Amino acid sequence: MANPSVMSMPVSSHSQPQTTSVVATEVVASLLAWLPRVRRDLPWRRRRDPYAVWVSEIMLQQTQVATVIPYFERWLARFPDIASLAAASQDTLLKAWEGLGYYARARNLQHAAQAVMARHGGVLPSRREALLALPGIGRYTAGAILSLAFGQAEPVLDGNVRRVLCRVYDIASDPAAPATERELWSLAGNLVQAAPEGQAGDLNEALMELGALVCVPGQPACSACPLAGVCLAQARGVQAERPVTAKRAPTPHYTVAAALVLDDAGRYLIARRPTHGLLGGLWEFPSTPAEASGTGQRAQESLPDFLVRAVDERLGIQIAAGARLGQISHAYTHFRITLHSYHCAWLGGQPGVASYYAAVAWVAPAELGAYPFPVTHLKIRKCLNREAPLGRRLLRDFTEQAY
Ligand code: SF4
Repeated sequence: MANPSVMSMPVSSHSQPQTTSVVATEVVASLLAWLPRVRRDLPWRRRRDPYAVWVSEIMLQQTQVATVIPYFERWLARFPDIASLAAASQDTLLKAWEGLGYYARARNLQHAAQAVMARHGGVLPSRREALLALPGIGRYTAGAILSLAFGQAEPVLDGNVRRVLCRVYDIASDPAAPATERELWSLAGNLVQAAPEGQAGDLNEALMELGALVCVPGQPACSACPLAGVCLAQARGVQAERPVTAKRAPTPHYTVAAALVLDDAGRYLIARRPTHGLLGGLWEFPSTPAEASGTGQRAQESLPDFLVRAVDERLGIQIAAGARLGQISHAYTHFRITLHSYHCAWLGGQPGVASYYAAVAWVAPAELGAYPFPVTHLKIRKCLNREAPLGRRLLRDFTEQAY
């Protein structure tokens, strides 16, 4: 453990004169005393083995704890170890992740599992450099695995920890700026170095819990906070203004059209997206953005007419677009879409995959559930099955229109 006397962090590089120091050992002692009183009983905490920690940390990226819990439990039942994950088929893998979003996480988990089988005898390595060499494992995830599963004094810096540190040390610069990011990693590193031997994992967990439960975005619950006595932002009354958020560019919005193509046998045409890229490897009803370069919607062209042309260009089949099933709005990290889906009749041609998709299939409605779909197309499927409230609402808009 490092000498606590060198862990006193003068806070000096920010917008206002600094007169106070935050002492790392005080922060650590307060957090470690507080954690047992509030620690949530979460399934990945019951078994702090490296594989479970790794899977949970990947699932928790961009995703709420309550959403992750059932996925985590199903995943561990379906893939109990690295060997079973490495050997899974693409459809099995994506089906287990269906609805969780950010599907590159699942593909990277499997690529990393395959690398662990090939390079490390099926055992997740406990060296930082070896972890960082695996797909999908960055500095945060490596720090979480090393501290939580191996007890090493490695820091973590996720959104919760970033917010806590910006407030405790009253950091008045954009945490996304590289210099501030480096400073935050340094502060997080100082804290784990100040933790008693073997307790870096508990300290990191306490920082994450504090950000999740008390030092929340907007108005934090300072009266319930174990760090209220040392927190600079709270002392200065600026906690609601930390972290500083830089003005971001408006999120782009795209219109997407999807074709629900039925053949004469009552089967739907679905297609598998290319393995790499957004929603890679997932199945969907053939769809395309109206703003697609080259093939996009033309001036004066209606959305159904554009869809008919785009399906012909992408899949080589002729369809007629009929009634609209409905529209679904969805936000991805860097853009938003509105997806309009249309019932379509297949007129001719055999669907091919040369220009875009990786595979196509005609599937009976009852069999669609066997294929992994992205969230937006899951909603379409539910509408088709008349199962979900959304489906009933959208189906009210359904206009009886001949194909
Ligand atoms: S005192 Fe308030 S602002 Fe400071 S760390 Fe605690 S909850 Fe966050």
